[in-house]
Amino acid sequence: MTQDFKQLWKECLKVISDNVDQTCYDTWFAPIVPFKYEKEVLTIQVPSRFFYEYLDSKFSELMRVTLSCVFGPNTYLKYRVVVDSEANGTMDEPAGKVAVSKKAVSEFDSHLNAEYDFDNFIEGACNKLPRTAGINIASQPGKTAFNPLFIYGKSGVGKTHLANAIGLKTKELHPQKKVLYVSANLFQLQYTEALRTGHANEFLNFYQMVDVLIVDDVHEFGEGKKQATQNAFFSIFNYLHQMGKQLIFTCDKKPAELEGFEPRLLSRFQWGLTAEMTSPDVETRKSILRQLVAKDGLSIPANVIDYLAEHITENVRSLEGAVISLIAQSTINQRPVNLELAKQVVGNLVHVTEKQHTVLSIRDVVCDYFKIPVESLLSSSRKREIVQARQIAMYFSKQLTKDSLTTIGTTIGNRNHATVLHACKTVKDLIDTDKYFRSNVEDIERKLKS
Ligand code: ADP
Ligand code: MG
Repeated sequence: MTQDFKQLWKECLKVISDNVDQTCYDTWFAPIVPFKYEKEVLTIQVPSRFFYEYLDSKFSELMRVTLSCVFGPNTYLKYRVVVDSEANGTMDEPAGKVAVSKKAVSEFDSHLNAEYDFDNFIEGACNKLPRTAGINIASQPGKTAFNPLFIYGKSGVGKTHLANAIGLKTKELHPQKKVLYVSANLFQLQYTEALRTGHANEFLNFYQMVDVLIVDDVHEFGEGKKQATQNAFFSIFNYLHQMGKQLIFTCDKKPAELEGFEPRLLSRFQWGLTAEMTSPDVETRKSILRQLVAKDGLSIPANVIDYLAEHITENVRSLEGAVISLIAQSTINQRPVNLELAKQVVGNLVHVTEKQHTVLSIRDVVCDYFKIPVESLLSSSRKREIVQARQIAMYFSKQLTKDSLTTIGTTIGNRNHATVLHACKTVKDLIDTDKYFRSNVEDIERKLKS
């Protein structure tokens, strides 16, 4: 095994890449070098101390589970930190700089991430239903109508965090219960491995003894040829449900929209409660950022927090990403964390992650949203709804395209650049003062970004 540990590491990367988003993977995992594997100790080399600390604090659980599965349950993980030699700028041997992960991979646990609990899960309209259901479940697992609890929503909205929090709370209130968290991907991997080595029965027995089973990202069972895994999952589901055990799933779509699933499984997903998690609204985004900043002991001015919350709307993960980039940029370039730097960081994010908008496409989305013909924007109508639609289209064009005010004005209703400026200001003011208007703007923003 010693020779092909690099191959095994590649296997680990595959699992990891299924569990984190692309940017995160590129930033934190692609740079890792598998250094050596000896006596069940895998040493991986990382570029810096910060890198190690970040990996260890955010991903130790993922790494642990993945290594246990790919390398075997008794594997230890060691980090080797490369230090920059100041003398000649080359990489140095890290004498005495090896950080050893203290956790043995072998001890059985729930595979829950201790950091994702209810205390640090900010409540908002976006997560009220699944959160409340989750708290109920934790107090009496298997005994509520929410079985299974099927949480669905787009990536980065907090599904994994919430599912974990439910698991942790259940363990806290019922220490004797066996709570198990597993990603669908890992489940699939374990099952395939069990089949290959003739241990399918042990696999089933293991899952059947669990009291609360949390399976994250079940949509993955529908991708590719996973019939056998679906069957195993189906039988575990039936057994546990019949025994009054609690099931919790997360998914990126509602059951009705899932493809590649057997109907019997889809219908079971809907036996309990199906609850959606949506992107957080701006106030929730601010609270989440404030908490993040407080937790990490960072000092970020309030106006920067507001700016980030207002401009990064999609999901919580990108908010966190922005804070990390902001701090990194500030440290690397020795610049203060201020609005200017925040704008730059947000500018970069928008640049890489968002789809390209044009004034025309924005105009169409806005007209479509208000159900008004495009011609009416071009007309001289001063009817309130037309004026507002025109202004909103101008506002988003200014935000999301690089076109000049003149171009924007001409394209949306033959107006001049001063009108566009005025429109942007009006929209901003109304967002602050008029709730109904703001929710319209947020809806449109979601449409534009979806
Ligand atoms: P998903 O599983 O839906 O893709 P995650 O649960 O991984 O999303 O959430 C992404 C990040 O955002 C995590 O770091 C999580 O802690 C954080 N997060 C999401 N929702 C909240 C919330 N309501 N309060 C605090 N942090 C949140
Ligand atoms: Mg997730």
